[in-house]
Amino acid sequence: MEKQIQVAIDGPASAGKSTVAKLVAKKFNYVYCDTGAMYRVVTLAALNRGIDLGDTDKIGELAKQIKISFAPGEPEQKVFLDGEEVTTDIRQGRIDQSVSAVAAVPAVREEMTNIQRQIAEEGGIVMDGRDIGSTVLPNAPVKIFMVATAYERARRRYVENKEKGIETASLEELQKEIELRDKKDSSRKVSPLTQAPDAIRLDTTDLTIDQVVDKISEIIKKTLNEFS
Ligand code: C5P
Repeated sequence: MEKQIQVAIDGPASAGKSTVAKLVAKKFNYVYCDTGAMYRVVTLAALNRGIDLGDTDKIGELAKQIKISFAPGEPEQKVFLDGEEVTTDIRQGRIDQSVSAVAAVPAVREEMTNIQRQIAEEGGIVMDGRDIGSTVLPNAPVKIFMVATAYERARRRYVENKEKGIETASLEELQKEIELRDKKDSSRKVSPLTQAPDAIRLDTTDLTIDQVVDKISEIIKKTLNEFS
C-alpha cells in the first residue's frame, strides 16, 4: 500500500484552507481535520455557559471537559459539541469575534494540540489551521502556507455567507474582522499564526479552487514519489 502522509495546510483567516483541504483529502482518500472548527466549538461552549472569556482557568478546564467530534457531511463536515450538532452555530459572527481570545489560552491549545496529534498519528491526514506545520505536526512531509489579499479573502467569505444563507456583515466589515483576527492570531504568545520555515507559500489571490487543489496535489505526489 502507498505510504499515507501528513499534510499540513496553514494560513490566515478565510484563505480558502478548509475548502481546499477537504478536496485534497478526498482526492487522496485521506482524513480531513478542520482544527479551526475545534477552537470554534470551545468558544461556542464558553459563550453558551456564560463563561467570561478573560477567565483563562475556566476556559482551559472547559476545553478538557467537552467532547468535540466530527462526522462526514456535504457540503461541510458536521461538527458536534457533546453529541449535539453545532455545524452552523460555530460559523456565527459572535464566534468569529471571540475565537482568537479562546485560542490564545495556553491550556486550550495544549488540549487541542494533543487531540490533533492523536488524529494525525497514523498519517493519511490533511489538517488545516494556523500552527499545524509549525507546532502540531512539525515533521509533516508536506506543509503549505496559503495566503491571499485581505480584500479577496473578505470577498470570498461574503459570497460564501450569502450562498450558505448565513447572515453576513458588509464586505468592508468582514475585511476589518478578518484583518483584526489575523493580527490577534499572529501576535499571541503560544503557537502564533506563522509560516513554518519549510512550508511552501501559495498565494491564491488569483487562483481558482481547482488550481490550488491541483498545485497541492502535485506537491503531495512528488513527496510520495520521494518516499517510494
Ligand atoms: O480556520 P478558522 O477561521 O475556522 O479558525 C478560527 C480561529 O481558530 C482562528 O482565527 C484562530 O484563532 C483559531 N485557530 C488556531 N489554531 C489553529 C486553527 C484555528 O488558533 N490551528
